Amino acid sequence: DQTNLDFKIVLLGDSSVGKSSLVLRLCKNKFSENLEPTIGGSCVIQNIEIDESEVKLKIWDTAGQERFHSLTPLYYRGAKGALIIYDITNFGSFERAKDWIFELRENGEQDSKIILVGNKIDLEAKAVVKDVTAQKFADKNGLSFFETSAKTGEGVNQVFFALAQMLLGK
Ligand code: GDP
Ligand code: MG
Repeated sequence: DQTNLDFKIVLLGDSSVGKSSLVLRLCKNKFSENLEPTIGGSCVIQNIEIDESEVKLKIWDTAGQERFHSLTPLYYRGAKGALIIYDITNFGSFERAKDWIFELRENGEQDSKIILVGNKIDLEAKAVVKDVTAQKFADKNGLSFFETSAKTGEGVNQVFFALAQMLLGK
């Protein structure tokens, strides 16, 4: 059934955690050290092939208005999936990721699929959020957890692929 393979997904997290960079890596296989904070905000469409099916992800990225509580619930209304992103070198961004998860669970779509994503693993030497800490939080809250680097590309395709699979109920 081709009609149900079309999903809105949202990227949420503090500014500068790398949301737009993850989209740029996924869609164009590129990275920029100084991406304009206002780049993004629009919906990008990316098709991902899973088994014989083509899953269409309509990816919503913010354009700098992502401060917690300044995003309207309209932004994530209808989102069947979400990547909640933090920067492993910024502890505050991990705290905000938790806030986002609780916010989505309260006010988002019923049974939306949520993945917690620790980005910038190329900066592992400067990490302040340990992967075991994030994994423990994810386990406790029934979430999947991935680590990525938009800079090197590590884990990026995997995280979107995993979300697409979850959206298909796999
Ligand atoms: P957003 O505000 O969440 O959309 O974050 P951006 O995608 O605009 O990225 C903010 C800054 O972090 C930019 O300077 C990016 O180049 C940088 N950045 C994003 N992802 C990574 C990453 O995986 N590794 C490193 N080292 N820098 C990154
Ligand atoms: Mg951005």
